[in-house]
Amino acid sequence: MTFKELNLHEDVLQGLDAMGFEKPTPIQEQSIPIVLDNKDIIGIAQTGTGKTAAFLLPILHKISKQETEPGAINTLIISPTRELAVQIDQQLQGLGYFTGATSIPIYGGGDGDDFSQQKRALTEGADIIVGTPGKLMSHLNLGYAKIDRLQHLILDEADRMLDMGFYDDIMKIISHLPKERQTLLFSATMPPNIRKMAKEILVDPEEISIAISKPAEKVVQAAFMAYDTQKVDLVKYLLRFNDVPSLIIFASTKIKVKEVTKSLQAEGLNAKQISSDLEQTEREAILNEFKSKKLPILVATDVISRGIDIDNIDMVINYDVPNDAEDYVHRIGRTARASAEGEAITFVNEDDQHRFLKIEQLIEKEVRKVPLPTSIGEGPEYNPRRSRGRGNHRGRGKRNFKKRR
Ligand code: AMP
Repeated sequence: MTFKELNLHEDVLQGLDAMGFEKPTPIQEQSIPIVLDNKDIIGIAQTGTGKTAAFLLPILHKISKQETEPGAINTLIISPTRELAVQIDQQLQGLGYFTGATSIPIYGGGDGDDFSQQKRALTEGADIIVGTPGKLMSHLNLGYAKIDRLQHLILDEADRMLDMGFYDDIMKIISHLPKERQTLLFSATMPPNIRKMAKEILVDPEEISIAISKPAEKVVQAAFMAYDTQKVDLVKYLLRFNDVPSLIIFASTKIKVKEVTKSLQAEGLNAKQISSDLEQTEREAILNEFKSKKLPILVATDVISRGIDIDNIDMVINYDVPNDAEDYVHRIGRTARASAEGEAITFVNEDDQHRFLKIEQLIEKEVRKVPLPTSIGEGPEYNPRRSRGRGNHRGRGKRNFKKRR
């Protein structure tokens, strides 16, 4: 199935193209037609399944077709944490770029400037609000947010929100909304308290459920503890001692992909990168080269770990540990398809060890840690329980992320 077959608006298709999403994930295939049909949904799905785009795409489609009344708010997305709200907002900006939709993030920073910017934006109205329950309540309590004409409510990671004690806040927010609306509730698990809440706020919902699968047994998994400076040499070493006609190297960011490709090329390896920065035709040409085995090494971000079907890969190298544990499963799922065996090797630097431990917990398996070859030197010590730093994101006022045409 393609996104076009899901009858999405041309402006939304353009956003998908810019983001490099080629094919809908299973949850997108299932949920988009239901949302377009104006029905409520209970979606059981974890992060990593593509659930964010599963609700954003049809909402953006509807907004592209029908203008939001001046001063009104069309869609409210409630998420448990600021981090998740940031991720939703980023996808919204990418996918909605060509639609002209406006959005307000209501999750950021504690200072007065942020708050008054958000207030101004809420007073003027917007197509989409993405917010956390506490911050939304602070604004709603002051009475200026115009949510009485809202058409869509989306609750993301509802189980986490209830675990965090947000039930009362969510129900209070909902009491401000019109009864005639479409409600989508996504949750990784479906305990009785979520069922109960769903009964109270959804009307005759369709239920969809997407399980994340564990890696196939045939994938041989291994990890090296390595400093970033040792990684290129490690790739070269692995290629020297293994027959690898088809290798995908995953890196977490576009910048990293570029750097890795350059370093490999400088070492005389036949590697090319694929990222959403490339034109669609360029991406297709490189993918075809790789699929037909003319190109042995493809360097990519997670964009291609899902959605694109490339079979018969001999080896996947995770140049860094993916941010979401589920992405690991998707990345290494590219190898050992059908009856073939495959290898998945992860390079874990000193900062990524804790995240790698989380992956092992998700897949319920301890991955073999292989000592670095002596020619590469000593790697970092394995100590995954060390604490990590956290990013800091702040909210902004209303924006219009339309490209001026
Ligand atoms: P989510 O489960 O919504 O957190 O999505 C996980 C990741 O998958 C995000 O990085 C998205 O950008 C990416 N993604 C979602 N849908 C697709 C798709 N159809 N093709 C490629 N990547 C996707």
